[in-house]
Amino acid sequence: MSTQSMIADEFKIKFEAPKDWECQDGHVVKHKPYKKYLRTDIKAIFESKGIVDPYLRQREIVAQVYPFKINQHIIDMIDWDHYHFDPLFQLTFPQPDMLLPDELLRIEKMINDNCSRDEIAHAISDLRSDKNPAPANQASNRPIILEEDHSYECEGLQHKYTKTCLMFHRNAQTCHAYCTYCFRFNQFVGKDKFLEQDTDNLHKYLRQHQEISDVLITGGDPGTMKSDVFRSILEPLSEPDYSHIKNIRMGTKALTYHPYRFLTDPDADGLIDCFQEFISKGKHISIMAHFSHFNEITRPTIEAVKRLRSIGCNIRTQAPLMRYINDNPLVWSTMWERQVQYGMIPYYMFIARDTGPQCYFEVPLAKALYIYSEARKKMSGLSHTARGPSMSCGPGKVCVLGKERVAGEDVFILKFLQGRLDSWCDRVFFAKYDEKATWLDQLKPAFGEKEFFFETEYRDYLNTKKKMVEECHT
Ligand code: SF4
Repeated sequence: MSTQSMIADEFKIKFEAPKDWECQDGHVVKHKPYKKYLRTDIKAIFESKGIVDPYLRQREIVAQVYPFKINQHIIDMIDWDHYHFDPLFQLTFPQPDMLLPDELLRIEKMINDNCSRDEIAHAISDLRSDKNPAPANQASNRPIILEEDHSYECEGLQHKYTKTCLMFHRNAQTCHAYCTYCFRFNQFVGKDKFLEQDTDNLHKYLRQHQEISDVLITGGDPGTMKSDVFRSILEPLSEPDYSHIKNIRMGTKALTYHPYRFLTDPDADGLIDCFQEFISKGKHISIMAHFSHFNEITRPTIEAVKRLRSIGCNIRTQAPLMRYINDNPLVWSTMWERQVQYGMIPYYMFIARDTGPQCYFEVPLAKALYIYSEARKKMSGLSHTARGPSMSCGPGKVCVLGKERVAGEDVFILKFLQGRLDSWCDRVFFAKYDEKATWLDQLKPAFGEKEFFFETEYRDYLNTKKKMVEECHT
């Protein structure tokens, strides 16, 4: 063979057509290539279903404020005969009431008045800024890397709870589809970014912080990253310098938005091999899977779950409680029971964050508590592992434990599941019962207290952190 043909052979790109997935019972899951649809496709999607949607114009306007992305797998899961009420339609398609009536009218008028693209873009950007795009004081979670000559703040890491460090890789800045309630909407339009260009800062920070045991790879959705990026994160963590890192968590909705990522995608085997090698070195991988409704538990999802579990990954499930999507005890009990049946571990029920279209999706804390308790009553103990309803707020993860009458006062019993300061973890405290409250900042301390027990310490913490960041920048 000539040298020329040997070189040509070496550099030949091998294209292997994705294979379908053969299940143990003989069923075949057909490969579905990932194909995304964006705002300008909304009309065509309705047309393809033979639907004249009366709210099309409003949806297209809302989708300019909150980014829209969907794929064929989800389109196929929606019941188009009753799409208005379909939970997955509500989960992914823009809804007119996600904006207040005057906000919607303002943008519509600008379009009708032929305002310039720049003017409209400006108005939309202002609208987004009004929607608390970076909730829970997330910027204050950015850690500082200490160096002799110049310490600096990391844009794409967060370290809020002692044992866990979050990493936002630049290749995980998107998702296979966007949830209508997503609190990262500004990230997806290129603002308020939390991202690491590579893995250098992560590894450096972990070496400096031996107290950390868990790394949560998050985004967007790290399920959109290629396996070589996972390798660049995980391989160094098997070395002795990182023996304190025991658990890797991957926060993802790919199990329901694009389960083929773990089965038939061209890089699926690569990802599975990467995880398997890491696990064989004595580390644990936990998939923190976002499931919003039991309708998402389809055959491809079940097969992806089985495949991940077969190599030793655990799958813990979590979701926020959202009006129109899952504000019903039966939805949660059915979803949790099915998850347990397939070997997943229900982990969290969250409260809708105080951000973005919260006005549309929010459920009062009192109702959330009712839904959580009623769902638990319908299930065996195996499905009782989900904690909640929990608010991920600035001071920590605060769970609504119950409602009681204490010393003549109706109160919410609240508890820190995680605290910004370790000493807050598991502390129980009381707020006046308020049937309408939807978030911690709307609650008042019970029994005549002026503040909740943590507030002074929290302010001090934030001030100290601010000073440290300022010092880095001088
Ligand atoms: S999967 Fe998570 S990050 Fe992605 S759109 Fe949904 S809520 Fe947002």
